[in-house]
Amino acid sequence: MERIALFPGSFDPITRGHESIIRRALPLFDKIIVAIGVNADKKSFFPSEQRKAWINELFADEPAVEVIEYEGLTVDVCRKHNANYILRGLRTSADFEFERMVGQINKKLDQDIETVYLLTMPEYTTLNSSVVREVYKHGGDISQFVPVTVKHRRVAPKE
Ligand code: ADP
Repeated sequence: MERIALFPGSFDPITRGHESIIRRALPLFDKIIVAIGVNADKKSFFPSEQRKAWINELFADEPAVEVIEYEGLTVDVCRKHNANYILRGLRTSADFEFERMVGQINKKLDQDIETVYLLTMPEYTTLNSSVVREVYKHGGDISQFVPVTVKHRRVAPKE
C-alpha cells in the first residue's frame, strides 16, 4: 500500500518551518498532499489561490508533493485522497497540547489514520505564519522567514 500523508494547515503564507517539515517528511512517504484549509467563516490574509501557487512553485521539481484546498473534516479529506497518515509539525509544548487533542479526536474519528509528528528544527521554533503576516503588514522584510517562491512575489493580500 502506498504511504500517502496529508499535511493540513492554513499556510497563510507557507514559511520555512512548513517547508522544512515537508522536505524532511519526503523520505518517509510516497506522496505528501499539502492541504490548504479554506474556511468560509474565517478570512485568510493571502487568497487561497496565491497560497497554493507559492507551494506548487516551491515543489515544482518534487513529483511526490501535491497541493489541494479543502474544507471540512481532515479525516474525510484523508479518506477521499487515500491518505493513511496525517503529518504535523511540533514547535512548543503549546503545539503539543493542541496536537494531542486534535490527534486523539482524529484517531477516534478514524482508527486507520495515524498522525505523524516531526519536531521542528531549532531555528524554526519561533516561526509561525501570523508573525510573518504582521511583519509583512508593517512593511518589514519577510525574506528570511519564507521560501524563495514567496519572497520573490509580493502580492496584495485580500481586502
Ligand atoms: P501556523 O500554526 O503557523 O498558523 P499552520 O496552521 O499552517 O501554521 O500549521 C500547519 C502545520 O505546520 C502544523 O502542524 C504546525 O504545527 C506546523 N508548523 C507551522 N509552523 C511550523 C514551524 N515553524 N516549524 C514546524 N512546524 C510548523
